[in-house]
Amino acid sequence: MERSTRQRAAIRTVIDESGRPLSPQEVMEAAQAEVPGLSLATVYRNLKQLIEAGEIASVSLPGDSPRYESAQHSHHHHFQCTECQRVFDVHECPGDMTALAPAGFTVERHELTLYGRCSDCAAATAKARRPAAAKVHGKPAATPARATARSAAAQAGPAAKGGARAATGMATRTATKTATKAAATRGAKTPPEPRTKVAAR
Ligand SMILES: [Zn+2]
Ligand SMILES: [Zn+2]
Repeated sequence: MERSTRQRAAIRTVIDESGRPLSPQEVMEAAQAEVPGLSLATVYRNLKQLIEAGEIASVSLPGDSPRYESAQHSHHHHFQCTECQRVFDVHECPGDMTALAPAGFTVERHELTLYGRCSDCAAATAKARRPAAAKVHGKPAATPARATARSAAAQAGPAAKGGARAATGMATRTATKTATKAAATRGAKTPPEPRTKVAAR
């Protein structure tokens, strides 16, 4: 198969099989298993083509960069984790919201996004709060966020920019303290480059 065809097929497959909307960075990382060396620029080019072809759909959350999902999904909603920023599908729908609109208004459609912590982040936080849990999984993510917040922020360098941007987006719905902690935790989990690239776009 020609390389460009293989790239596009791999990207399409990753999005169709993911079960949640993916950022370009996440698409790249997953598709690299099939196409080693796949670049972010190539991912963006293919995402654009797949959108134009109606094969995938973009998911735009307020104040955040777009994610991509299969165009075949029926009506559904999303959940964004304020710690890891990943977006998940929510299949339940409250249904008709006509009653929420002012009298005399007609509701044509609705979008609904829930914010909070995904099960991974909730579990990581619970473990970090137990003193003996520092070595769980041996990953930096298991390190108590409070103890490392300062050094993580210092090491984050360019990542701090993404954190600041995410914090601004969350300002209206989350206390600044939480946002700062989220940014610091994120910096600790994903050192310098990848996420920053996406965040900067
Ligand atoms: Zn999370
Ligand atoms: Zn709905």
